[in-house]
Amino acid sequence: MMAYLASTLVAVAAVAILAIVLRRARAARDVARGLARLAEGRRARPVLVLPSGRLGALVAAFNAAAPEVHERTRRLEADRQQLRVVLGAMAEAVLAVDPRRRLLFANASADALFGLDASSVGRLMPELIRSPQVHDAVEATFRLVHPDAYLAEFALPGRDVLRLAPRILSVRGSPLPGGQAAGAVLVFHDVTDLRRLERMRQDFVANASHELKTPLASIKAYAETLIDWALEDPAVNRRFLERIAEQIDRLDALIRDMLALARLEANQDVFRHEPLVLIPVLERLVEAHRDRAEAGDLTLSIDAGGLDRGVTVLADEEAMRQIVDNLIDNAIKYTPPGGRVKVVCSATAGEVAVEVSDTGVGIPREDQGRIFERFYRVDRARSRELGGTGLGLAIVKHLVSSLDGRVEVASRLSSGSRFTVRLPRAAAPITPVAPPASAAPPP
Ligand code: ADP
Repeated sequence: MMAYLASTLVAVAAVAILAIVLRRARAARDVARGLARLAEGRRARPVLVLPSGRLGALVAAFNAAAPEVHERTRRLEADRQQLRVVLGAMAEAVLAVDPRRRLLFANASADALFGLDASSVGRLMPELIRSPQVHDAVEATFRLVHPDAYLAEFALPGRDVLRLAPRILSVRGSPLPGGQAAGAVLVFHDVTDLRRLERMRQDFVANASHELKTPLASIKAYAETLIDWALEDPAVNRRFLERIAEQIDRLDALIRDMLALARLEANQDVFRHEPLVLIPVLERLVEAHRDRAEAGDLTLSIDAGGLDRGVTVLADEEAMRQIVDNLIDNAIKYTPPGGRVKVVCSATAGEVAVEVSDTGVGIPREDQGRIFERFYRVDRARSRELGGTGLGLAIVKHLVSSLDGRVEVASRLSSGSRFTVRLPRAAAPITPVAPPASAAPPP
């Protein structure tokens, strides 16, 4: 009996010990599984088995920390995604480089600018980007003492394969948080257009001052000569005064064109894009130039080649008048006596084209792309002599684009030029319908 009791007690004790061991093993296994889930960024279930002693304390600590750890990981991942979207949407190119000069990160703009792709991450910078200035920027950034930033501007040659034009880049390099040991981040800003506009503005001011100075110098010289001796000399005084008047006219034309251009560029001229019946406007313009053409022994004609006389464009009448006026004026100026100037109007379903062609001096091919620039002239002396300001075609180009149209030139030296303006066609305006004869009011 005693022996039976003893063996039962031993068995119970053994089962109890086994249960405790199993419970501890399960708790340890659940904590290990929970940690693995947290490591994967997933939520860990709380461990429900709470053994006694140190293991119990560990389980309790795990249960308390797991939700917090999971929430932090989730927030970090959300921030990382957000940062990726923000960097991806940036116009600036962003590169991050590790201390071994391997690429850590490049946003979409950097991929496009330097020709990188997903496989570039982890590769050495000199293999990826063959620009000494980019490497100088990386090295200079690594030499920085925090919290300084490296700033520079340089020209990046275009990539030949894609026939990209060279770009001017400004770069700002700073160490990643954690200093040089963590890496460096470089932000590249494309300032090509900005620098080009600055250059254009500087050139414009220089050109405008020069253009204004020339007639002023003439006026000054004539006026001084008159004061010194010529006023009393009837052989020259009238001629000198006429020269002064001519130069004043030139100044006046220049200032008027400069103001017109400035207003156009500042979008101060409001154009009403209204249906405009074009042919009568063109006919009136041609007639307005008739005397000048005849004085230059030129044949001036208009041809609307069987086009419906009601053909309508979407344009502002004053803008249209200035465009065609400038083109006819140039055609007359640059065509020697005996030549022809023709205005031709044609239309397709969506567009109306107005061509102004001449049999004049023509424009060399290499100048054709530049004649729409401000103050650009093929023959400066000839243009001045003919009273040109060098701004007419710049005004034409601005006006045409503000009417959503385009202007092109085709020309052969010594044969003539043809300027074509294309504008959107509009539906014909609604004209009042005449009442039918039968509906006429009784007398
Ligand atoms: P400008 O006042 O000098 O005529 P524009 O801007 O009107 O200035 O024209 C720029 C230049 O383009 C002119 O100086 C001239 O060299 C050239 N050009 C314009 N129209 C013609 C044309 N019909 N035939 C030949 N050259 C032309």
